[in-house]
Amino acid sequence: MTRDPDCIFCRIVKGEVPCYKLYEDEQVLAFLDVGPLSRGHSLIIPKAHYRTLAEMPDDLAAACGRVAPRLCRAIMAATGKSASNLLQNNGRIAHQAVEHVHFHIIPKYDAESGLGIHWPAGKLDEDEAKPLVEAITSAMS
Ligand SMILES: [Zn+2]
Repeated sequence: MTRDPDCIFCRIVKGEVPCYKLYEDEQVLAFLDVGPLSRGHSLIIPKAHYRTLAEMPDDLAAACGRVAPRLCRAIMAATGKSASNLLQNNGRIAHQAVEHVHFHIIPKYDAESGLGIHWPAGKLDEDEAKPLVEAITSAMS
């Protein structure tokens, strides 16, 4: 399994650093975030070290994805809340603090708690959309 000895999440997987474990299987580990945005803020990580989502093998991403709804239901049941955000950041500029891919589940208690989002939506231009669809779909093969 790919590991980085300097990576805090790899050290958690290896058992060198403790965590508040919520779930574990052969490929995936989930635990409470130690810097929570709200009560119940949790992380799902692959046990193997990959920096970003784009670098992850598809089957490992699927293994993480399979855990997400079950963990989310459990967090909602435990907190008594029904709103949450699933967040995954890639790269420093996108607020990725630990360079080991991870998925946040962040319960939302009210407008002030949990994840705050700056969402400066533009308008999709048709002249831009068509070549973009072509570029992305051809790159997915
Ligand atoms: Zn790692």
